[in-house]
Amino acid sequence: MLLHSRLLLPIVSGYPPPSRSFRFLLSARKRAPSPFLPRSCSFSTKAQVAVSAPLEIDSPISPRIVEEGGEVPQVQIPFDRLFVPPGVDRAGAAAAASARVLRGSNIVLGPYAHDAQISTADFVKSSTKTEDCPSDGLPEFALVGRSNVGKSSLLNSIVRRKRLALTSKKPGKTQCINHFRINDSWFLVDLPGYGYAAAPQELRVNWNEFTKSYFLDRATLVSVFLLIDASIPAKKIDLEYASWLGQNQIPMTIIFTKCDKRKKKKSGGKRPEEHVEDFQKLISEYFQEAPPWIMTSSVTNQGRDEILLHMAQLRNYWLKH
Ligand code: GDP
Repeated sequence: MLLHSRLLLPIVSGYPPPSRSFRFLLSARKRAPSPFLPRSCSFSTKAQVAVSAPLEIDSPISPRIVEEGGEVPQVQIPFDRLFVPPGVDRAGAAAAASARVLRGSNIVLGPYAHDAQISTADFVKSSTKTEDCPSDGLPEFALVGRSNVGKSSLLNSIVRRKRLALTSKKPGKTQCINHFRINDSWFLVDLPGYGYAAAPQELRVNWNEFTKSYFLDRATLVSVFLLIDASIPAKKIDLEYASWLGQNQIPMTIIFTKCDKRKKKKSGGKRPEEHVEDFQKLISEYFQEAPPWIMTSSVTNQGRDEILLHMAQLRNYWLKH
């Protein structure tokens, strides 16, 4: 069975017609001439996509999670906040009843979502400068987030290896750009965590200094995956990070982590989906178009397959253009 066939939700009828173009950029250098669906919904303000949150996948790796004593909460996503991937014909897709949104995300699935499975994952190298990173021209996705956000757990969950990300946590490598080659054809990149107040001053590298040049200069960077803890209210440093990426037009996907943590008391009185909503509102002024986002949990593996499909469709489009 195709990986994506069990991960989708239909877009509700009443799909709005095109009127404004997406400006999500595939990379700072490889900009596609508007390969995206329009953004605004002039057809109906009620045109929305019902996305279950958390994930509702009937699969061994992504079990259905139901609220205690209740229904799975529904997140209503207006059309203008969907992410429509490159390579999707605007007019055709706008009318297509077959268009689908990945569960627990705002991402429409397009024709480039193939070869999403991971068969091999190997640590390649740690670099302290962008110039030292691998130079074989393979497309890459960079994971970044506040310390303790769950980056190592997510990396291990994505590649289905318990300890791969330990490589990045070895002394001397925590402040490096760590490259992992996947299927001998693309890279997952682990960037240093930021905002760890307990770190000694000399280890508290200013992310502006260290990673800015990587984001701005790395020609093969397809998208930054910014990890945000959805079990707690947004932190100022996360908002700063997201807004910097937005202002600099660095392609960004928001990965909301720890979405299995649903106890309101411990999370500032809100559920993960409410934190997801809040974060998007807070960063919306920095983005002309809604960035793609996915809700995940490394405990339940929620979002794992959705991440792989999202990466696949961005990567395959990038390779062809
Ligand atoms: P990193 O510092 O960003 O690499 O974070 P880690 O992956 O080491 O995780 C930090 C802590 O959060 C650990 O105690 C993990 O067990 C926990 N954690 C990570 N991901 C999840 C998740 O999806 N759900 C829950 N409940 N805990 C998580």
